[in-house]
Amino acid sequence: MLELDQVSVALDGRPVLHGVSLRVAAGERVVIAGPSGSGKSTLLRAVAGLVPLAAGRLRLDGRELGSLPPGQRDVAMMFQSYALFPHLSVLDNLCFGLTARGMAREDAQERARAAAGTLDLTPLLQRRPRELSGGERQRVALTRALLREPKALLLDEPLSSLDTQLRVRARAEIVKAHAASRAAMLLVTHDQSEAMSLADRLGVLHEGRLLQLAPPRTVYAEPANLFVARFLGHPAMNTLEVQVGLDGALWWGSTRLAARLATAVAEPGRRLVLGLRPEQLALPGSRWDSGDPQAAEITAVVESVEPAGEQQIVWLNAAGQRLAARAEPELRLVVGVSLPLRLALSRACWFDPDTGEALRPAAGAGEAMA
Ligand code: ADP
Ligand code: MG
Repeated sequence: MLELDQVSVALDGRPVLHGVSLRVAAGERVVIAGPSGSGKSTLLRAVAGLVPLAAGRLRLDGRELGSLPPGQRDVAMMFQSYALFPHLSVLDNLCFGLTARGMAREDAQERARAAAGTLDLTPLLQRRPRELSGGERQRVALTRALLREPKALLLDEPLSSLDTQLRVRARAEIVKAHAASRAAMLLVTHDQSEAMSLADRLGVLHEGRLLQLAPPRTVYAEPANLFVARFLGHPAMNTLEVQVGLDGALWWGSTRLAARLATAVAEPGRRLVLGLRPEQLALPGSRWDSGDPQAAEITAVVESVEPAGEQQIVWLNAAGQRLAARAEPELRLVVGVSLPLRLALSRACWFDPDTGEALRPAAGAGEAMA
C-alpha cells in the first residue's frame, strides 16, 4: 500500500501542495483529476522522490520513502514528457529498466515483445523515438513503466496525446495490464472522463489541495463543493441561486420552485445554491424524465441543440440563465420554442453560496414537496 500523509511541497519557495493525504492499496487505481497547474505532476514527482517534501510522510508497504533516492523506491513513473532514450530503439527502451536491474537480455526482450503487443507496438520495435508519433511515444513510455512491475505505478496524463479511438482502448489496456501487476496505481489527469472511467477512487485536486476522494459515482452524485461539482460532468452541473422563503417555500428569483423543502438545509430565509446535473432537467416527453413527483416545473426557451450520438445536449434559457439538459436523439426540439422544464429536486445537490461547500440533507430528507 502507498500512503501519503499530509504531504506538502514548495517549489521556488512557493507552496504547491498543501497537506495531501491519501492511500492507494495494492491493485487499486486511484486517479487524481484537476485542472492544469493544480499540482498533479508535482504530487507524482514527490512520490517518486524527484522533489523534496516540505512536510508530511510517504510510505510504501510500510517502508518510509522520505530518505530513499528515487532508484530505491520501487516506484515506476510514466512522465507526461515520456522521457524515452532518443538513441535507443523502442525495444531497447522497453528493455532498459529490466536489464538495468539485472535481467538477462533475452528474457528482457521476450517480456518486452509480449508487452508491446498489448498496445500495438510490435511493428515499431526497431524504430527510434524520433520516428514515432506523439501517441506512439506515449504508448512506449506506458509499456515501459508497466514492464518494471513496481510496487507503485505513477502515471502522469498517460493518454493525453492518443487519438480518441486508441484512447478508449488504451484505457482498457491500462486496466488490464495494471490488474496483472497488482501495483498501487496513482494516475493524474486533467481529463475528467478518463478519470471517471479509470478510477476505483477519484480525487479532485485544486490549487494543491485534495478536495474530495471517493468512488467516482459518489464524487459525481455527491460533490463535496461547487468546484468539484462543476469540474466533473459534461455539460457541467447547472447551478441556481435560490432562497428559502419565510414560509419554507423555495424561490428562484420570483419563481416558486416548491411549496416546502423537506430537507434539513432549508431553514427559512436561507440562501442556497441548487445544483442539478443536465440529466436532472427533463424536457416534456423525454425518457430522461424520471417522473419525480416532487419535480419543480419552470418555463425555458430552447436556445440550441447539440447532437452527441446517443443523446442530444439541449441548451435552454430560463429567466436569463443558461441551463443544459439531456434528451434522447429522437426528441424533436425547435429552437426558440418555450417549454415546461421539470427539475428533479429530490436528486439535487445543495451548496452554501458563501463557502461553496456542499450541504448534506439529514438522512431521509432531501425531498421537495411541490
Ligand atoms: P499540473 O501537473 O497539475 O498541471 P504542476 O504540478 O505541473 O501542475 O504545477 C503546479 C504548480 O507548480 C504550477 O503553478 C507550476 O507553475 C508550479 N511549478 C511546477 N514546476 C515547478 C518548478 N520546477 N519550479 C517552480 N514552480 C513549479
Ligand atoms: Mg502536469
